Amino acid sequence: MNCANCGAGLQPVGGRDYFRCPYCETFHFPTPTTDGVADLGGGTPFACPVCADPLTTAAIHGHDVSYCRTCRGFLCPNDTFGRIVRERRARPSPPARPPVPFDAGELRRKAACPRCRGRMDTHPYHAGGNAVIDTCARCHLVWLDAGELTVLGRYRPRERPAPVPEPAPPAEPEVNVFGFPLRLF
Ligand SMILES: [Zn+2]
Ligand SMILES: [Zn+2]
Ligand SMILES: [Zn+2]
Repeated sequence: MNCANCGAGLQPVGGRDYFRCPYCETFHFPTPTTDGVADLGGGTPFACPVCADPLTTAAIHGHDVSYCRTCRGFLCPNDTFGRIVRERRARPSPPARPPVPFDAGELRRKAACPRCRGRMDTHPYHAGGNAVIDTCARCHLVWLDAGELTVLGRYRPRERPAPVPEPAPPAEPEVNVFGFPLRLF
């Protein structure tokens, strides 16, 4: 993306979701999607788990995510995702809307993790909110389709704040040799 004022290449401002021209210091604010994703346009090593197009660098309120321009979903680490959801839910409550149940067919989707290519685990977000998310327990990554963050962010938990989604790691077989537990791999 180039500066509208002088044409120089724009640099994303570190940790923020906008750009600043290194020459004339003009700011540029990308229009966020309805989920609040600001597309920063940089390359990432990842392809979209849904449509296989390359993901770009993007930010949601200063949190780094990888974004698909085609299907408008985004990928981020578990802890980043937990923070984004908590921040959304800490905002003043939006007008109440009847909860929309997700389509059970979404649970049958087979998405491959953009990092390890393993099959992602497709499940409802356990901290509430009627949205199906895809996670990779090995890579600690979460994929959200367009609109899912909006649904999750509207939900207001009654008691505790939303925990970070940390699926249990797969059980590793252990053998005991002379009383010491040994991991097989
Ligand atoms: Zn400029
Ligand atoms: Zn996509
Ligand atoms: Zn993975």
